[in-house]
Amino acid sequence: MKYVPKMYKKTIFDIPYEKLSKENIKCLVFDLDNTIALIDDKVPSKEVLELFKKINKDFDVFILSNNHRGKRVSKFAKELGCRSQAFALKPFTRGLRKIVKLTNYKKEEMAIIGDQLVTDIYAGTRFGIKTILVDPMAEKDLWITKYNRIRENKKFKKYKEKNLFERGKYYE
Ligand SMILES: [Mg+2]
Repeated sequence: MKYVPKMYKKTIFDIPYEKLSKENIKCLVFDLDNTIALIDDKVPSKEVLELFKKINKDFDVFILSNNHRGKRVSKFAKELGCRSQAFALKPFTRGLRKIVKLTNYKKEEMAIIGDQLVTDIYAGTRFGIKTILVDPMAEKDLWITKYNRIRENKKFKKYKEKNLFERGKYYE
């Protein structure tokens, strides 16, 4: 069940961060595009800035993006007061391995948060950390994502048939 997230919420604002903290999660690894910002956003929204101000106190926060535009990714990280890595090539786990090298967190202390099953969630499952899916903020995706969405829709369909999970039915 490598594509089924451990938790599923509508947005990053609906995630129970206190609960994660109690579960001893110390490091949050966020996807960027369509998870914390629209693909055309140049800067983080006021709401995201406020959220990060809060969670930065309790967690070591990273942005791990497949976006190849490193400047965009590092700009967001700088504004949000966290660290980042671009060109992560999720679902490969190289980016997550780098974070562990930098921080020494154990896998049970980490969670990955993103809007795509076939990149974010699969990378997290492969790496053995907690996976949290959110709905994409908008339908508009980067061109590299469009193919992933086709694969993802097939998985959603299969999981719904098997009664495993379905879009819009949130759980933690
Ligand atoms: Mg994304």
